[in-house]
Amino acid sequence: MTEITDFNEEKTLGLYIQKYGGTSVGTLDRIKSVAAHIAATYRQGHRLVVVVSAMGEQTDELLAMALKLSPNPPQREVDMLMSVGERVSMSLLSIALNDLSIPTVSFTGSQSGILTDNTFGNARINRILGDRIRRALEGNQLVIVAGFQGMSEQEKEITTLGRGGSDLTAIALTHALKADRCQIYKDVDGVYSADPRLVANARLLPAMSWDTLSFLTWYGSGVVHNRGVHLAKKFKIPLEIRSSFNLETSGTLIGSVKPVE
Ligand code: ADP
Ligand code: ASP
Ligand code: MG
Repeated sequence: MTEITDFNEEKTLGLYIQKYGGTSVGTLDRIKSVAAHIAATYRQGHRLVVVVSAMGEQTDELLAMALKLSPNPPQREVDMLMSVGERVSMSLLSIALNDLSIPTVSFTGSQSGILTDNTFGNARINRILGDRIRRALEGNQLVIVAGFQGMSEQEKEITTLGRGGSDLTAIALTHALKADRCQIYKDVDGVYSADPRLVANARLLPAMSWDTLSFLTWYGSGVVHNRGVHLAKKFKIPLEIRSSFNLETSGTLIGSVKPVE
């Protein structure tokens, strides 16, 4: 059995970062359902920053459009194009939450002050300013941030962080904003011993260390973005990987492992 020591204290009024992946916000009905869950968390008194991925396969669809026009599209334009998917989902989620009377504002990566290098398609985060996010939180607003994107610090171009990069956005924001929790909502119940879509008897693992998760993602498990796991491990950021479809399950906790017999 594995016991994680970073989650003992149940903070009543914490700053939570929640991230919802593409399938979790894949349709308008899914956005409504996610909005209801977020609204309930906000009403409990937590401050919340929600990171979203593009709806469903939208990033692939945008990329396919570019490739129909040119076999070799300019990387700068591809990054601008791919950043659009998360802008659609962030504003739709914000509209849904406003309709539930939750004061909400959404920001793109550049509005959030996520400053990167200029490596289009796989940009590295240099630093996160986050002042607009902090100001909105101080004004009791719920903040939604478009995942997977930033702005290059020198050139002021829109950049993307590599496929699946919204996990990295959420984990980096947890560190930058000194948040209490990073909850990553997926279309699976948590981290399994193997991909549950491929291996029928894969087991849900309730807890693991950063090293174990990093081992899994290094060997090709796509469940959490590789560089996000690396960052979590480096800064000892506890993570919760859980399901947006099955909200009662607690999923997988990732943090410092207490050796138990
Ligand atoms: P999202 O885009 O919602 O963040 P991803 O599609 O990037 O989620 O990652 C979740 C997917 O990762 C699951 O649907 C599952 O098929 C796959 N996966 C691969 N390995 C694992 C694993 N060990 N445990 C759980 N899911 C895994
Ligand atoms: N939408 C982006 C992708 O499909 C980023 C993400 O989903 O995290 O890669
Ligand atoms: Mg993903």
